[in-house]
Amino acid sequence: MKMVDEFRDPERIVALSKAVHAAVGDRRFRFMEICGGHTHAIYRFGLPEMLPEGIELIHGPGCPVCVLPVGKVDEALTLTEDPDVILTAFGDVMRVPGSKASPLEAKAQGKDVRMVYSPLDALKLAIENPAKQVVFFAIGFETTAPSTALTILRAAQLGVRNFSVFCNHVTIGPPIRSILETADLDLDGFIGPGHVSAIVGTKAYDFVVEEYSKPVVVSGFEPVDLMESILMLVELVKSGKPAVENQYVRAVKREGNAAALAAMADVFEERESFEWRGLGFISESALRIRAKYAEFDAEARFSMTTIRSPEPAGAICGEVLVGAKRPEECPLMGTQCTPETPVGALMVSSEGACSAYYTYVHRALGVMGG
Ligand code: SF4
Repeated sequence: MKMVDEFRDPERIVALSKAVHAAVGDRRFRFMEICGGHTHAIYRFGLPEMLPEGIELIHGPGCPVCVLPVGKVDEALTLTEDPDVILTAFGDVMRVPGSKASPLEAKAQGKDVRMVYSPLDALKLAIENPAKQVVFFAIGFETTAPSTALTILRAAQLGVRNFSVFCNHVTIGPPIRSILETADLDLDGFIGPGHVSAIVGTKAYDFVVEEYSKPVVVSGFEPVDLMESILMLVELVKSGKPAVENQYVRAVKREGNAAALAAMADVFEERESFEWRGLGFISESALRIRAKYAEFDAEARFSMTTIRSPEPAGAICGEVLVGAKRPEECPLMGTQCTPETPVGALMVSSEGACSAYYTYVHRALGVMGG
């Protein structure tokens, strides 16, 4: 792995910026960065200031916490009504508002909700608390699904009977297709996600070229990576020959990670349909636990039922999530909704577009009196 400094080299960034300006000329290009990690890097490194006016970057739906609808938080919290249940979740999930409370607020109200750093931590908690039922609230794309799958396999191997997973893992292809099919965004191409592509490989985006004639460039997270990816996209559009290209060659392969994909295929199967915040129900866009591992499926174990809850009043999280509106267009931005008092999930997550905008732009504007 090369040193990160190489990918933050100011001279290379300036040279790439000049190359993008020259390549763009007086044309206009609209590219969606799918991944919330890219959104944060774009704001953090001030890339919009270095790009020509002809480049517009649209934030996409690749933030795992953000795409979770309010009802899923409510569903998870119904489990905590049982005093024998310990609900576990990652730190950012703890702060996602449900319609009545976030998991963290439920904890403050006396429910047994605990933060974990990995699903294996939740399994360990189950082994240490045999009289309790420990449930892991699993979310995320193919980036995190393999670790959930491997934890279920480990629980089966160890014969742990008091551990289960509330599975809300989603897959990256269907929301991209949904955006191409339904959203009127007039996109010229996509900056492909880095982490998820390390699992699924660049081949996962072939359909974007074959069926929609749009280019995809899978990118790393440093400023040089992103500037290079934007230049590659501009050149692809201008050539009239859309393709899937890989800028992030130090981490991503065309075939992805075979071992991770095999673990996922063993443990999970596609759900017929799953509700996404902002995108509604998308068929075959999420994973559920296969019947052979049903004893580790919290939905089966606790006979969970689906809850659909509305977005908070005034919030436009769904529209921001699909790129139809920008974070600064939300009337709650920086007033009712801040990282300290999040109204929507996009303000909670370290990959949320609103959190990125608030941290790197809104705050700065406040300091400068803008
Ligand atoms: S500012 Fe808050 S309420 Fe508004 S779209 Fe962003 S996360 Fe949602």
